[in-house]
Parts: sequence; C-alpha cells; structure tokens
Amino acid sequence: MSRGELDLLGVGFGPANLALALAVDELPPDDRLGALFCERQPRFGWHRGMLLPGATLQVSFLKDLVTQRNPTSPASFVAYLHERGRLADFVNAKTFFPTRLEFHDYLEWAAARVAGSVRYGTEVTALRPVREDGAVRAVEAELSDGTRVRSRDVVLATGLRARMPRGVPRGPRVWHNHTLLGDLRALDEAHAATGTAPRSFVVLGAGQSAAEVVQHLHARYPGAEVHSVFRSFGYAPADDSPFANRVFDPAAVDEFHTAPPAVREDLLRRHAGTNYSVVDQDLIQELYRTEYAETVAGARRLHVHRASELLEVREEETAVAVDVLDRTSGAVRRLRADVLVCATGFEHLDPAVLLGELAPAVRRDAAGRVLVHRDHRLVTDPDVTCGIHLMGGTEHSHGLSSSLLSNVAPRAGEVLASVRRRRGAPAGARAGGLPV
Ligand SMILES: Cc1cc2nc3c(=O)[nH]c(=O)nc-3n(C[C@H](O)[C@H](O)[C@H](O)COP(=O)(O)OP(=O)(O)OC[C@H]3O[C@@H](n4cnc5c(N)ncnc54)[C@H](O)[C@@H]3O)c2cc1C
Repeated sequence: MSRGELDLLGVGFGPANLALALAVDELPPDDRLGALFCERQPRFGWHRGMLLPGATLQVSFLKDLVTQRNPTSPASFVAYLHERGRLADFVNAKTFFPTRLEFHDYLEWAAARVAGSVRYGTEVTALRPVREDGAVRAVEAELSDGTRVRSRDVVLATGLRARMPRGVPRGPRVWHNHTLLGDLRALDEAHAATGTAPRSFVVLGAGQSAAEVVQHLHARYPGAEVHSVFRSFGYAPADDSPFANRVFDPAAVDEFHTAPPAVREDLLRRHAGTNYSVVDQDLIQELYRTEYAETVAGARRLHVHRASELLEVREEETAVAVDVLDRTSGAVRRLRADVLVCATGFEHLDPAVLLGELAPAVRRDAAGRVLVHRDHRLVTDPDVTCGIHLMGGTEHSHGLSSSLLSNVAPRAGEVLASVRRRRGAPAGARAGGLPV
C-alpha cells in the first residue's frame, strides 16, 4: 500500500459491507488492512421505511453477519442477545425468526463495533482508474464531501433500487413501500392538522412487502379501506421447505457458479418461489381470516382485487385516482384513495454507473450481464490489476442468495480472503474465511 492509499474501499454500508467490516476487524493486529466504508445515509439503517411492527426476518438468525463464517465471532446475534440481557428470553420464544426491529437493533449494535472504519453521510459519486506503468493498479473514489480516496481494492455493495410500475412516477400520493413509515408519518401529520384521518389506500403488488403493507395499513387505520391489487389469483406462499432452502446454502454458490448458464437460468426460474412474489404462509392465512371475518360481519374494509392490473394513475389535489383492470372480465374500476403504495420490488443498478471510465474494461456475457469470478471480483481486462468486487446484483453468476442476507457472512470471508490473497497474505485465516 503506498502512502495514503487504502487496501479496501467499501461502497455502501448495508449488511453486506458491514459483514465485511466485521471480518476485517477480526484480522490479527499484525495483519491489519487499511479499510474504509462509505455510506450515504447519515447513520446505519437497514430498510428503515419497512420496519413494520411485528414483521419478522425471512431467514434464520443463524444467518447473521458472522456465524456462518466464524461461529465463535464476538459479533454474532447470540453475542448481541447476551449483551442486551435477552438471551434466555429469546431462547424461550422458540423462534429462528426475530422481528426485523430486533434484527435492525442487532445490525446497529454490530455497526457500532466497527464505526471507526465507516464514513456516514458520504456518497461515493464516481470511481476512476489510477494508471501506473500501463496497468490500472488502484481506484480513486470521488466522495460527496468533495474529498478523494485511493484504494487498491474496492467492494461495491450498494444494494437495490426501488422499482416503480412503468409510467408511474412517485408523487405526494404515489409511494414506493421502501419509504412507507416516513411517508405515513408525514401523512399522519397532515391529517392531524385538519382533524381528519385517511380513508382509503391502494396497495399494488403480491409479494411479502405488499402483504405486509396491506396488513399494516389495515391495522393502523381502523377507519380506512385497503385495496390490494395484483395480477395473480391469490397471494402465493413462499417455499421455505428445507430441500428448496438449500439453494441459499454457502455450498450452493459453488455449484451454481460452475453450472452451465442454461442450468443456472433454469434453477433461478424453478426456485423463484423461494423469494419473489411470494408471501409467508402465516401472513396469507391472517389476511384471509381478516377478509372472511369482514364478509361475515358485512363490513368490508379489506378488498382483494385478484387477477387485476393497474391501468392508469392520476394524482388529484385531495386523492389519487387509480384505474384497475379486471383481467378476467375486462371491466375497469376506478378506486379513489388517499395514497397508492407500489410494493413493486427492486432492481439492480448496473455497476457501470459508478465505474464510469472503468466500465468498458469489465467483461460481460452475451446477455450484457457482468462476468464475476467466484471470489466476487468482476472479470476485467488483464491490465486492471486492482480488484473490483461486487456484493449483490450477482444472481446470474452466484445464485439466489446474492442480494439477500443468507450468505453475507461467508461471502464477506470470501471477499476478504481474495483481497488478502492478492495482497500476498495467507488466505486461510478464519477472518478471511475459505481460501479461494
Ligand atoms: C423490507 C425488506 C426486508 C427484507 N428482509 C430480508 C430478509 O428477511 N432476509 C433476507 O435475506 N433479505 C431480506 N431483504 C433483502 C435485502 O436486500 C437484504 O436484507 C440486505 O439489505 C442486503 O444488504 P446489502 O448490504 O447488499 O444492501 P442494502 O441493505 O440495500 O445496503 C446498501 C447500502 O449502500 C448504500 N449506498 C448505495 N449507493 C451508495 C453510494 N454510491 N455511496 C455510498 N453509499 C451507497 C445505501 O444507502 C445502503 O445503505 C429485505 C429487503 C427489504 C427491502
């Protein structure tokens, strides 16, 4: 490392790079790396807008930030529970699935352990190649505070971007669920000022988030109607059966990465039901019971518009008009609501956006997707000798767990092992995880 140059720059500080920071922190003192993580949020936050009361983690707490890499790490969820004085109580709760609120508290607790290597409120706005002797030896990052840092390796873990339905921009009454709680606070304040309450919501989507939003709005606004609109006939249950769940195992990444592309596509398609457009069985039952009880009582507030799709959305002064097409009958119904919440998922941002001048050096497959080594480094032209690692957005090469929590711990070990191996350090030490 030359003077002032980092060994590792992490872009984004969600669970993925937090797991990496913890792995770096566990390196022995004589083997330290110069690492810095930049996060544009002012403090640590994991999908704060969706920390709905009662919503639970979709993976076992054993898939925390460290345990699958180093079961004796002091930064495990169990260590957190112990420090908070709740270990026995958690054991008695007999669950693998803590609430997202509790897991968020764990993540914040873990982030505080490595706060010294994080710059919050700092966005990485651009990356530039540092050329020496005809090779790209390092990367220079431009930060939103106007400063620049150089690093020999960079780890992009920037998460996903909220996706709106085509042709439907966000607006004062058209939201994406990702910012739900903040938007609801503002809505509540506006209503409090006029002594009124929201009377109707439309929620678009059939996935876990959509169902959670429907349930939350229904419970939070006892005087409001909630319209759930989706294309399929009913909410589909998530497949969390044990054999299918193996698709999220660390070992599955090895198998997936070496499989022929056509087999990878086939496996992604076959197992989409473990994660996409599916809902926890318990939540489906609960929503069904709610709807049925209202039917019996003759006082419907929850309306499920199945086999339906959005035709047009128009924001008005005091409401949003949502035209919904019933796909079976062809009938169009206009719903007038206080708000339309689009729980329409997320999309990856191509790393080329950040890589700028470096982007053409990144190799792609026939479908235009970036090629990624097993150790999460982008495949680049040979003159790029610095490492550009990608955590997230690698479903096509590393499988379904790529943007989820399932593998954050082992993956952090793999990335760190790669960084250290290329720096000449032995890769097998526990903090670095598996040799690559
Ligand atoms: C509501 C919700 C619940 C979920 N629950 C689960 C679950 O139970 N189990 C599961 O496995 N997965 C779950 N997921 C999937 C989710 O992707 C993972 O939980 C996790 O957030 C992935 O971590 P990450 O670090 O890759 O991305 P993120 O958590 O999205 O973190 C990326 C970070 O990078 C920052 N950033 C982006 N660009 C820049 C930049 N240029 N400069 C600086 N900072 C930047 C962002 O501000 C963000 O903090 C959930 C997702 C949502 C939306």
